[in-house]
Amino acid sequence: LSVKLRFDNRLRLLHASFMKFDFDVAIIGGGSGGFAAARTVSSAGLKTAVIESADEIGGLCILRGCMPTKALLYAAEIIHLARDTSPWGVRSEKMHFDFAQAMARKDAIIKEFADYRAQQLTAGKFALIRARAMFSDPHTLQLSNGQSITAKNIVIATGSRIAPPPLEALKTAGYLTSDDALKLAKLPQSMIVLGGGAIGCEFAQFMSRFGVKITLIQRSPHVLHDFDGDVADEIERVFRREGVEVFTGTKLLDVRRDGDLKTVEFEWRGEKKSVSAREILFALGRVPNTGIGLENAGVKTAWGRVVCDDFMRTSAPHIFAAGDCVGPHDIVHLAVQQGEVAGQNIVAPGSRKMDYRLFIEVVFTDPHIAQVGFTEKEAKKKGIPYLAASYPFNDHGKSLIMEARDGFVKLLADPKSGEIIGGTCIGPAGGELIHEIVLAMAKRMTVHELAMVPHYHPTLAEIWTYPAEELAEKIVVR
Ligand SMILES: Cc1cc2nc3c(=O)[nH]c(=O)nc-3n(C[C@H](O)[C@H](O)[C@H](O)COP(=O)(O)OP(=O)(O)OC[C@H]3O[C@@H](n4cnc5c(N)ncnc54)[C@H](O)[C@@H]3O)c2cc1C
Repeated sequence: LSVKLRFDNRLRLLHASFMKFDFDVAIIGGGSGGFAAARTVSSAGLKTAVIESADEIGGLCILRGCMPTKALLYAAEIIHLARDTSPWGVRSEKMHFDFAQAMARKDAIIKEFADYRAQQLTAGKFALIRARAMFSDPHTLQLSNGQSITAKNIVIATGSRIAPPPLEALKTAGYLTSDDALKLAKLPQSMIVLGGGAIGCEFAQFMSRFGVKITLIQRSPHVLHDFDGDVADEIERVFRREGVEVFTGTKLLDVRRDGDLKTVEFEWRGEKKSVSAREILFALGRVPNTGIGLENAGVKTAWGRVVCDDFMRTSAPHIFAAGDCVGPHDIVHLAVQQGEVAGQNIVAPGSRKMDYRLFIEVVFTDPHIAQVGFTEKEAKKKGIPYLAASYPFNDHGKSLIMEARDGFVKLLADPKSGEIIGGTCIGPAGGELIHEIVLAMAKRMTVHELAMVPHYHPTLAEIWTYPAEELAEKIVVR
């Protein structure tokens, strides 16, 4: 069978080299990954088409993802600061929060970004076709407007969608998705957040700070299961201090509607528990959008995601993919990087590879939670030797000035060479501070070298020097 497949593929390639195509490159999806691929191939002079099925142009990050949530998280941070200004001797009159105004500001910011993206997509550097695309064969896309187009190379950048609910009862009781919650006209009194991943934690905190009574229910033993337990413990402590009820290690049993309320029943510490609220936010994950006839193109998937090599090439050699439909994580800078890598390898095959060594993840709660490279959990699982050192923000000059005492930084280093292999920051501006370690790791710096880099005082950034010094003392390089 494999000999026949190889023969078929050769035949197809031979056929393709004689065929005339409508486009050099067709890109399915005009979000962050698709746009990055389109910009790369069109600026190299290739005749390109982007096919986008959504009514609104902009992609997930701009319209319903990173940007709207961060706008609301920032509003929530200001409310939080304004609620207690007494440490700095500021006495303010009773504070009032105008939810409608915060939402209007968020919408205005999103419109600005979306308009700019629409302008970029329609600037004439490539054709923008507003339709849904499906593969009818490896080089042909059938469009929902009745047309079909052919392309020598194709990039799949179809993104993801909200996962289907795990219980039929959730559908009957009704729930909000993150898309719905970003369009609310009025705040509910109370909300159950199902799921303690990045999206669940971010919504839980800004909704709680907006005055909604939040209960967060998470299946894993702690929230944010990709991160180390000490990080999760810290954010759970902050959530509880702020009045968010957090249940971890649960098993969802049932959901029902009780009049105006929705009740979630779950197992927790061996007991049956139930919680009621006005709304349920479904934050149990997203699934890749791969129902586009991939079988007609010879593109393989695993767990629903498009399988790619480090050149972003799929199992069909002329088809590439990028973004949430590939993974391994739904993160926008990865989608952009993968789109560029796919584009560059179409222009010059084999010219650029993805490097997942510098994998970064940030959760924009307050405190921010940021990670690059190995967590301790991952290093242990993969049997990678390491030494770790951490330092708390409650013993650091600048954070004390700011009354930002929650969290810590942590460094992981190779015990022989001292090379930094991971960094964690849960703390003020953690999403910014992590980039010092990203840069250090990009340049394969050791803890000894980081400890020697001058850091201005008093800054948040100088906190990295403490774990770096501690590890540098322990690791003697011969
Ligand atoms: C609430 C929320 C908050 C987030 N916050 C962050 C954050 O702070 N930082 C971060 O890094 N990431 C964040 N993300 C994730 C980030 O938004 C995504 O990783 C990123 O936008 C994915 O880009 P993409 O190009 O793969 O997909 P998308 O931007 O979704 O683009 C895919 C496009 O393909 C189109 N399409 C799909 N199928 C077809 C078809 N058959 N034919 C034609 N067009 C099609 C869709 O309409 C869509 O426009 C967040 C996500 C959510 C939901």
